[in-house]
Amino acid sequence: MSQKDKNSILIIYTGGTIGMIRNSMTGALESFDFDHLIRHVPELRQFNLNISSRAFNPPIDSSDMTPEFWGRIAEVIYTNYDKFDGFVILHGTDTMAFTASALSFMLEGLMKPVILTGSQLPIGVLRTDGKENLLTAIEIAAAKHCDGTPVVPEVCIYFHHKLMRGNRCTKTSADSFDAFNSNNYPNLAEAGLEIKYNHAMIRPYVHNSVLALHKKMSSDIIIFSLFPGIQPRIVQNMLTGNELKGIIFRTFGAGNAPQEQWLVDALSEATDRGKIIVNVTQCSTGSVKMNLYETGLQLLEAGIVSGKDMTVEAALTKMMYLLGKELPIEEIRRMMKHNIAGEITVTK
Ligand code: ASP
Repeated sequence: MSQKDKNSILIIYTGGTIGMIRNSMTGALESFDFDHLIRHVPELRQFNLNISSRAFNPPIDSSDMTPEFWGRIAEVIYTNYDKFDGFVILHGTDTMAFTASALSFMLEGLMKPVILTGSQLPIGVLRTDGKENLLTAIEIAAAKHCDGTPVVPEVCIYFHHKLMRGNRCTKTSADSFDAFNSNNYPNLAEAGLEIKYNHAMIRPYVHNSVLALHKKMSSDIIIFSLFPGIQPRIVQNMLTGNELKGIIFRTFGAGNAPQEQWLVDALSEATDRGKIIVNVTQCSTGSVKMNLYETGLQLLEAGIVSGKDMTVEAALTKMMYLLGKELPIEEIRRMMKHNIAGEITVTK
């Protein structure tokens, strides 16, 4: 096989634990430059692939991730889209699910694999999970069907033997190697002796799809979680702020809130003034069903939109994306309930 016939993969290194080493003086973990990563994973050379890389300079801890950085990652993919068969993004685990969700909206019409991965232990450490995560992510990004179409033409997270749709993932463990879960959508592949793809759940490939880049995201929003004993004044102050355009409202169970008149009034007034409030559950699995109990129905009547089974990460980045497009408020409310990039289960 000539160099030209080989599949090509672009690795985008943003930072995070996967690319860290321990400072022998202070004992703290610090980022090292990307050449180090290749040195620590000589196995990369064994792939029958053309592998290129780009690195953030300086690399960032993913707690410092911002919509501007998402835009930079999306732009690198967009400008290199025709040159590569797949993309692997090395990213800190803390906000990886937010980045994966954001990219799924920013890269409209994507028909190539964009696989995010990272690790819980630095790649230079003996027991690292980073090597397996990186090597398998590359293999998945390069996988093709016999007709030459990619096996996974969507944004995913690969972590600890599981390939998951990016906008369905949440980081669920701060210390286990098994750090991510896709609670409301089946895994897209399991990597054991071989990689077993769940083809029926992977987004179908669409011929002639054109990639469009949407970098503008609006951050004038907040995630707000209910709790027993919530105080009127605090909620009212938050909801009356002019800058606030949208709220990801984390409710109890199937989308329920206390039956307090002040709360219903504050929410209704906010939606009347054009704030977009989306109801997502605090539970890690299951869906919002606002017509199940009186405690949910009152929210529906207050103009709150059901986020159904979306993760907080998906709901947040979807709202940022829709606000960034400056669509009419009613259109944003309508789109929040509808599927854009496989982030929500829409039942008829
Ligand atoms: N704080 C790190 C980050 O998210 C943790 C990790 O990489 O897993 O960048």
